[in-house]
Amino acid sequence: MSITVVGSIAYDAVKTPFGERERMLGGAAVHFALAASFFAEVRVVGPVGDDFGEAELDVLRSRGVNISDIERVAGGKTFFWRGEYGWDLNSRETLDTQLGVFEGFQPKLSATSRSSDVLFLANIQPDLQREVRTQLPGARFVALDSMNLWIDIARDSLVQAIESVDCVILNDSELRQLTGKPNLLAAAQEILSWAPADEERPGVGGPQVIVAKQGEYGAALVTRDGFFALPAYPLETVIDPTGAGDTFAGGMMGYLARRGRVTSATLRRGMAYGTVLASFNVEDFGVRRVASLTRPRVEARLREFRKILKF
Ligand code: AMP
Repeated sequence: MSITVVGSIAYDAVKTPFGERERMLGGAAVHFALAASFFAEVRVVGPVGDDFGEAELDVLRSRGVNISDIERVAGGKTFFWRGEYGWDLNSRETLDTQLGVFEGFQPKLSATSRSSDVLFLANIQPDLQREVRTQLPGARFVALDSMNLWIDIARDSLVQAIESVDCVILNDSELRQLTGKPNLLAAAQEILSWAPADEERPGVGGPQVIVAKQGEYGAALVTRDGFFALPAYPLETVIDPTGAGDTFAGGMMGYLARRGRVTSATLRRGMAYGTVLASFNVEDFGVRRVASLTRPRVEARLREFRKILKF
């Protein structure tokens, strides 16, 4: 099965205690697509500027990602993000965000991207997420990510976007901020109760799956009938956490697209793949590690992860 992702395609400048990089390939849609490409055909939707290089597109091509809906905007500049991490990598400061070609972006999806069974609305302006959602009315499983910025400045639109998806994948602090509930389970239950008014969107039932990303502590899953949680894969060396959340989502959603069925078992196993892919992502700057990974290495680390979790 195939999966469409819309989100940022970026140049990132990142400083961590282990070094800095000035201009490397990044963006939520890129991290997501590379991780998901281990399991399913991935179609990326998003704009880039004249400054976006062929070498960067080749990274996506080399993993078999379909890039025909990456729109090159003449005279435009690619989305740029600069961030710096604290000494233990748990705190991050955004120093610069330049929307560039995202300003005025109007997603136009090809018939191929519209035909995907699975859709991931990566972290972008919620109006854009809603616009893309309407272009895939038949998608069988739709998930969304967001960030504190949109909770602060576009909450109403974000709530409507959430009501139109099956699955919400957010940092746990964002779940708390979004709902105003200090307890993670209560926050997740609150979002599970959101549903669009029937007459607005007949047949759409609102989110049924909440995934709380907890950084180096792992991820939790909340549905109406259960709870599940996984720690992060333990690593002694972490170089750059940028994109870990998107890589996690890509591994999880890619696995769900491959399996074709969303059940309690496939959600749990999808989270395990997401965790494993994210652990590779943080071992080097940007997309370097995941872009050069092989499926057998993914499977080997998944086996290690299983051993760790046995008790
Ligand atoms: P994460 O570490 O999972 O939060 O993702 C970091 C990635 O998200 C980087 O590659 C950035 O290019 C991208 N990013 C950062 N801020 C934004 C934003 N406001 N909108 C879209 N993408 C962003």
